[in-house]
Amino acid sequence: MSAAQARHLLNTVFGYPEFRGQQENIITHVASGGDALVLMPTGGGKSLCYQIPALLRDGVGVVISPLIALMQDQVDALAEVGVRAAFLNSTQTFEETVQTERRVRNGELDLVYVAPERLLTSRCLELIEQSQIALFAIDEAHCVSQWGHDFRPEYIKLSILHERFPQIPRIALTATADPQTRAEIVQRLQLEDALQFVASFDRPNIRYQIVEKNNGRKQLLDFIQGEHAGDAGIVYCLSRKKVEETAEFLNDNGVTALPYHAGMDNGTRSAHQSRFLREDGIVMVATSAFGMGIDKPDVRFVAHLDLPKSIEGYYQETGRAGRDGAAANAWMAYGLQDVVQQRRMIDESEASELFKKTQGAKLDAMLGLCETLDCRRVRLLDYFAQHSAPCGNCDTCLTPPVSFDGSVAMQKLLSTIYRTEQRFGAMHVFDVLRGIESDKVKQWRHDQLTTFAIGADRSEPEWRAILRQAIALGLVMVDHDAYSALKLTDDAKPVLRGERKIQLREYQKPLKQKCPPKTKSFVESDLSSAAQQVFDKLRDWRMATARTHNVPAYVIFHDTTLREIAQAMPTSLDALRGITGVGEKKLQTYGAEIVALIEGLA
Ligand code: ADP
Ligand code: ZN
Repeated sequence: MSAAQARHLLNTVFGYPEFRGQQENIITHVASGGDALVLMPTGGGKSLCYQIPALLRDGVGVVISPLIALMQDQVDALAEVGVRAAFLNSTQTFEETVQTERRVRNGELDLVYVAPERLLTSRCLELIEQSQIALFAIDEAHCVSQWGHDFRPEYIKLSILHERFPQIPRIALTATADPQTRAEIVQRLQLEDALQFVASFDRPNIRYQIVEKNNGRKQLLDFIQGEHAGDAGIVYCLSRKKVEETAEFLNDNGVTALPYHAGMDNGTRSAHQSRFLREDGIVMVATSAFGMGIDKPDVRFVAHLDLPKSIEGYYQETGRAGRDGAAANAWMAYGLQDVVQQRRMIDESEASELFKKTQGAKLDAMLGLCETLDCRRVRLLDYFAQHSAPCGNCDTCLTPPVSFDGSVAMQKLLSTIYRTEQRFGAMHVFDVLRGIESDKVKQWRHDQLTTFAIGADRSEPEWRAILRQAIALGLVMVDHDAYSALKLTDDAKPVLRGERKIQLREYQKPLKQKCPPKTKSFVESDLSSAAQQVFDKLRDWRMATARTHNVPAYVIFHDTTLREIAQAMPTSLDALRGITGVGEKKLQTYGAEIVALIEGLA
């Protein structure tokens, strides 16, 4: 299979001048019948890796995807570039299903998207047997990982594809790439002989920022108003209740926000998803149920109001920002309560000890990221076994945190917990440390202890930050069976004996004055004012066109394409053909309108 044919499709169908990264190698490998495992970060360009081989090979490409709610959009987007695609899932009527099946059998489709549970039915497997199949693409392949955050039991059964159709090439794709998940994918999907393509996991346009939480909602609002007025973004919260409350709070403060969580009825949920995709500048407030497969390119920020359970989850979620390559923010507010809550959820879960241990290790890595004194990106990439140098585009690189030898402070905290017999919660321990003569302190005569007031030089927030780090380091645990009493772990002993030094992050006072709200959105436009006016006109045209076609605006053209048009001012179809993102089908459909629009402005 020649690379020239692949390139020709890239240029004429998708309108892109060049392959990105390893796309070309992957495509030629799969197109010539090889199996592949592709690990690429969100926004890396995975879709072309199976779409182009499906076009190059005879027959229809079968794409297995858990993202039922997005299949219609995916199929519509492909129709826009002239690729014949359809889907099979539970949202269809029987007639629609039968019609799609007929098109598969007759070879009238390039791609068919299938939900895994549908694929595994005997009816569907028979259909595959009777049809010519170009390839199987297993999207979101990390869903086979039992310990991952997106586990889908049906994914495990997908090994049947290899057993029943060994001659059909398979390409598995995922944006989760920690070595453990990768090994699980290979084993469960029987991809031992597949070539592995591992892209760089860096997303250089995303700026990582983790701030100490004091009033999370207020901090979030300041962040949005200060840096992202009018931008589309996603805010992740842990609970459904918090999702609802946060969306309401944002709306009350002039930010258009919509809630999304698994407890809402299907209709409202998909209406919210659709508005987020189709309208500009909407903030989606969601639980982790939202986001897989969302390919909106201009999400300018992802914010976390609660600590995610793992770095895999955090990286997937933050990866939804800035898929268009323009500057984007990943922001998180994190505090003592997050650490306590996450540890508690693991302790109280009914799962096996082994599972709990794995979850505990994942949480530790996440906490390590939050408490790190070094570059956040170095930490993140390290987790995916990729080594890098400090990035210059994260909070710890931009304003290095101050660290200090916290051994003595930690000893004070630990011995106060010890002297109060490991029976009290954080507030009381802080009171004793700071020499506060509260009723409880007097009642227990803790003002008589040798540690009473030995920490009077620090404020309560400072002690809170130290306790948070003690819990993150595993020196202290919170006993939820005993009124959240603080207890020492075995690891606390060497610190108390002075055998282990502890380096701590200095508590950072929240900034009093917030940065003045910017009027412009986060992406500073590099267009001249004349070009900017053309760009605005093009956007209006795109919005109207998207409405008529009932697709999200970016499916018509990306901002980057409109920007290029506004700069080049093409007045012929040939000139328009050279613009990134303009393939033959879009040229036919929209070319004349755009040229007329440009000529009208000239
Ligand atoms: P993901 O890896 O997250 O599935 P996609 O396949 O959705 O990423 O691609 C991300 C974005 O990059 C899309 O908007 C896609 O059109 C664009 N893209 C992919 N490959 C190229 C390329 N070779 N040149 C230009 N844009 C590309
Ligand atoms: Zn950095």
